[in-house]
Amino acid sequence: MSSLVLHRARTVLPVAPPPIADGAVLVDGGTVVRVGTHDELTAALRDAAFERVEWDGTLVPGLVNAHTHLQYSDMAVVGQGSYSGFETWMSAFMELYPVPRDWGASAAEGARQALRTGTTAVAEIVTDPEAAAATHEAGLHGVAYWEVLGWSDAAWGIDGRETVIAQLRALPEPPTAGISPHAIYSLDTEVLRDLTALAAELGVRQHIHAAESAWEDAYVRTGTGDLADRARAHGRGEFALLRDGGAGHGVIAYLDSVGALNPRTHLAHGVYVDADDRALLRRRGVSVALCPRSNAVIGLDPPPIGAYLREGNPIAVGTDSLSSSPSLNVLDDVAALYSLARSQGYADADLHARLLGAATRGGAVALGLDAPATGVLQSGARADLAVFPIRAGDPRDALAELVEVGAPESLATIIDGRTRSRAAAGPWRDLASPGRATAGPKHDPADPREDTRA
Ligand SMILES: [Zn+2]
Repeated sequence: MSSLVLHRARTVLPVAPPPIADGAVLVDGGTVVRVGTHDELTAALRDAAFERVEWDGTLVPGLVNAHTHLQYSDMAVVGQGSYSGFETWMSAFMELYPVPRDWGASAAEGARQALRTGTTAVAEIVTDPEAAAATHEAGLHGVAYWEVLGWSDAAWGIDGRETVIAQLRALPEPPTAGISPHAIYSLDTEVLRDLTALAAELGVRQHIHAAESAWEDAYVRTGTGDLADRARAHGRGEFALLRDGGAGHGVIAYLDSVGALNPRTHLAHGVYVDADDRALLRRRGVSVALCPRSNAVIGLDPPPIGAYLREGNPIAVGTDSLSSSPSLNVLDDVAALYSLARSQGYADADLHARLLGAATRGGAVALGLDAPATGVLQSGARADLAVFPIRAGDPRDALAELVEVGAPESLATIIDGRTRSRAAAGPWRDLASPGRATAGPKHDPADPREDTRA
């Protein structure tokens, strides 16, 4: 029997090719075969057997959440607060973090929320091993980054590498495993250098929190300030930056000095960066996952989205975790970035398209999801799709509404051609294509727990 499925929608926003009114995406198993208008594709199909699904909304590539920690989903009480800076947020977080909880269930709930809001791939940071199975079981694409923190150079020299290699091997695949050196202040200098070398040796991706708070700047420049005091109080006084009075330059240049800026790596946040930092990131091919709502909850400055766009940096979008953000809906951060870009003076006609691109293709680039092509709807791409209840018939209007307003949930979230989540009472309908040899509509269970892969 044919496995061809024709997804028709009011509008299709393929990201790289132009938006399409009354569009369609032809999928064969887990692969996009062709994208075009509904009339073009049905004409091309002629007498072939296929299933047709009609969506009352806009169809886009599945969203890529380029920075999150699904395991903190049941720490949402922290993210619902608002803080005056990293210090107060961190205190609230650390008060709850040691409380025993079921990290596996917490991460699974996060994965369900991601699927419900149109996300098909994640840069998931795994801190506790119990949380590692959630993305695997939900069928989400992306990278599970094992978080590494707290190592001094001396301790690392004893058994650091072996420990991290064993931890990486314990992660269930897919998704592929990666390494997340937590931040410049939680790892000693030679550890950061060696983790970068290890990622290259193992051929895995790397993801680092960087330039998130102004705190980090004094720490890395001079080894002083509140963050440095706090690190010393936690027994990290032997870290080279603290011992030697800093590196004399900022976070981005410091990461470059240990080799950590390379196309295998992407950063989270990138708030406190200047023009030289952004230029260095471009030269090194390093994407930045922007998480504006998390920055706002913590009480930090907004990311310089206007400058990133004007200067042409590769960017992606992340929600961060529910411990610092009100939701795991990537579109909510897209809407925040839209407002910020306008307020920072960026109002070019391509703003909507570039922000949707950041939340799809930009995320795929950041995570190295390129074989097959991801975050874009074109022939040969991965059939990861999301449909949102945006009813505009003009694709430019649909794009503007999707970016500026978003949607509380998707009508459907489809991974590798299989429906992983769909709105309980959404205005979707399936139509068997009349006169053609098809078995009629069929769907996989919406509940990812009933739809785990073999
Ligand atoms: Zn984070």
